[in-house]
Amino acid sequence: MRFAPSPTGMFHVGGARSALQNWIYAKQQGGVFVLRIEDTDAARNRPEWTEGILNALEWIGIARDTYEGPYFQSSYAEAHTAAAHELYTAGKAYYCDCTREQIQERAGAQFRGYDGFCRDRALGPGEGRALRFRTPDEGSTVVVDLVRGEPTFDNKLIEDFIIARGDGSAVFLLANVVDDMTMGITHVIRAEEHLPNTPKQQLLWSALGRTPPVWAHVPVVVNEKRQKLSKRRDKVALEQYRDEGYLADAMRNYLMLLGWAPSNDREIVPWSVIEDEFRLEEVNPSPAFFDEKKLRAFNGEYIRALSPEAFAEACRPWLTGTPVAPGGTPVAAPPWDPADYDPKVFDALAPHAQTRIALLAEIVPNVDFAFLSEPAVDEAAWAKAMKEGAADLLGAAVTAFETAAWDAESLKSTLEAVGAERGLKLGKAQAPIRVAVTGRSVGLPLFESLEVLGRDRTLARLRAALA
Ligand code: GLU
Repeated sequence: MRFAPSPTGMFHVGGARSALQNWIYAKQQGGVFVLRIEDTDAARNRPEWTEGILNALEWIGIARDTYEGPYFQSSYAEAHTAAAHELYTAGKAYYCDCTREQIQERAGAQFRGYDGFCRDRALGPGEGRALRFRTPDEGSTVVVDLVRGEPTFDNKLIEDFIIARGDGSAVFLLANVVDDMTMGITHVIRAEEHLPNTPKQQLLWSALGRTPPVWAHVPVVVNEKRQKLSKRRDKVALEQYRDEGYLADAMRNYLMLLGWAPSNDREIVPWSVIEDEFRLEEVNPSPAFFDEKKLRAFNGEYIRALSPEAFAEACRPWLTGTPVAPGGTPVAAPPWDPADYDPKVFDALAPHAQTRIALLAEIVPNVDFAFLSEPAVDEAAWAKAMKEGAADLLGAAVTAFETAAWDAESLKSTLEAVGAERGLKLGKAQAPIRVAVTGRSVGLPLFESLEVLGRDRTLARLRAALA
C-alpha cells in the first residue's frame, strides 16, 4: 500500500482520507505502508508543501515510524526513462512529432484523443519528439477494483497516450507505475479522479511484464452543491481545519465516514473500532459529502469528552498564539497581554467553555474578558443591550453587588431581585450586565463568569459602562 501525494499545495482533506484508508488497510493486511512524494512537477512543487504533508500526516495520527519513506519520485527519473526505453525497443511505444495544433486540426470538432498519426511512421528519437504508448486495438481492459467491482474499458477507445515528453522525461502515468512496480505495491488505493488513468496504467503494467495491482478508487469528496471540493472554492486544507481547532481525533473519525460507516449506525467511535471494522470493500462508490456542520458537531462531542487537563492542553495554542502541531504556523495571537494571562482563572472558566465550544479557537472569545484590562466591546451587542432602563439597572446592580456574597448563586439571586423590582425577568436583567462585563451578548454562564472575574473588576466594568 502506498500514499503518493503531489506536493503542489496545502494538504487536501480528501488526500488525508485516502492516506488513512491506505494506512489502515496495510495494517489489517499485515502489509507495509509506503509514503511516496510525487515531486516531478518541478514548476508546481515546493519543499514546504512536502513538509506540510509530513506534518499533517503526523497530526492526523500517521506517525513517521509507521510508514516507509518518504521516497521522492524525482530520485527515480532514471528508472522511469529506462522503462520508457524498454517499451520503445519492444515496439510497444513509438515516437511522435505531432503538435497539439496539428492533432486538433486533423480531428476538427471530432477530437477524441490522439489519432495515431505517427503509429507507423517509425520515427526515431529526436528533439521534441514525445514517446507514445501503442494501445491495443482490440479487447478490453478490466480493472479489478475493491470499491467499484470490475470497471471495463474498451481498448480501442484508449488513445495512444504520451509516456515521455519531448525532453525524454517520463510523464506521471508512467512514473507512477514504475515506482509502484519498484516498490512492490500490490494495492493502489486512491481517489476516484484517477480512475480514467487506470486502464492506461494497467496496460503499462502488462506491457512491462508485470501483474497489475488491485485497485480501489475511493469516492470523490464533494461540497453541499455536489461539486468536487476544490481549493479555489472550498475549504480543503487539513491544516486549516487543524488551525481552527478541530481535534485530530474528531477529524480522522469524520474522514473515515466519507463513504463508509462503522456497525450499528454508529458514527462517533474510538479509533480502535475503525481500525477493526473498516473494510475497503464496504466503501460506497458514490460521491461523499464533506459536511462541515456535521464535522463541527463531532468536534464538539470530542471536545466534551476530553479530561480537564487534556482540554486545557488542547486549548493552549490559541491561548498562547503558538502552532497547533510541530512545524505548523502559529495560530492568531490572543488579544490579551500575555502577562495578564492567569492559568488559574482559565481553569476556573474552562469547564463552562468545554461544554459550549465546538472549535478550540472559540476558546478565545469566550475567556478573553477575563484577561483583557477592558472587555473587547461588540458595538452592535452594546447598542442593543444599553437601551432605555439599562443605566438604571446597571446602577442598581452596582449597589447590590458591592455588598453581595461573591459566588455565582448569590450573584444570581441578587440580580434576580434587582430585576424583579423593575419588572424584568432574569434573562432581560442579565443582558446589559453581560455586555458591560464581557463586551458580548453571548458567552459563558454569566454568574460563574462574574465570580471568576471578582468583585473589583466586575464593579469597575459596570461603572465604566455607566460613565
Ligand atoms: N500523485 C497523485 C496525486 O497526487 C497520486 C497518484 C496515485 O495515488 O496513484 O493525485
